[in-house]
Amino acid sequence: MPALDVLAIAAHRDDVEQTCGGTLLRMKLLGLRTGIVDLTQGEAGTRGSAEERGAEAAEAARILGVDSREALDIPDGRVENSYENRVKIAGVLRRLRPRVVILPYWTGRHPDHYTTSILGYEACFLAGLAKLDMGAPPHRPFKIVYASLYADVRPSFVVDVSDHIEQRFAALMAYRSQYSNQSAGGGLFVPEEEIRERSFALARHYGLLGGVRYAEPFVQKEVGLVGDLTLIPGQSI
Ligand SMILES: [Zn+2]
Repeated sequence: MPALDVLAIAAHRDDVEQTCGGTLLRMKLLGLRTGIVDLTQGEAGTRGSAEERGAEAAEAARILGVDSREALDIPDGRVENSYENRVKIAGVLRRLRPRVVILPYWTGRHPDHYTTSILGYEACFLAGLAKLDMGAPPHRPFKIVYASLYADVRPSFVVDVSDHIEQRFAALMAYRSQYSNQSAGGGLFVPEEEIRERSFALARHYGLLGGVRYAEPFVQKEVGLVGDLTLIPGQSI
């Protein structure tokens, strides 16, 4: 399989749809090769079985137009930054060979999310170690960016997803077992129309920060590098 350009790694099926689905749609439209790796299969969720969520994730992947999607077998609700898990993810990175990796932001409410951030970073490092024999040549992604939609931090940049906002929402709604109106977990889950409003409001907020209608935010740890001052996007005044 040819190398991926952009790979999003997340703890749970539907995390990517919430935080960077529009970005994956946009990258696809640019002709890039995109992929998703979900670390868990969703067996601990209040609603739906792992099998149901697998079928829903496949449908969401179809809507997002990604070239590959797979779920690992790390226990849901117990994502740990262990050597075993780092090696597991590093093996996937060596096989998919992405140039850019999207990880969750490193703070948050759910331990699986922030653990995935550190675990993913360390797996990217491990995947590049030449002396580590894993049956596939070493590969280290060039760029790691952190999807920060739910983090209370100022993004390094936002990606304009204005043209993809409906399709992005359709991908999230593919998770019928999670988001359709139903009685199971009724006190825990918000109604479908509320999800739409929240999703669009957040994207609108980040859009305003970037001077566009809808956008998704990212943080990068590196300082931005510029070669030509006249090509910096984002109007100042
Ligand atoms: Zn999640």
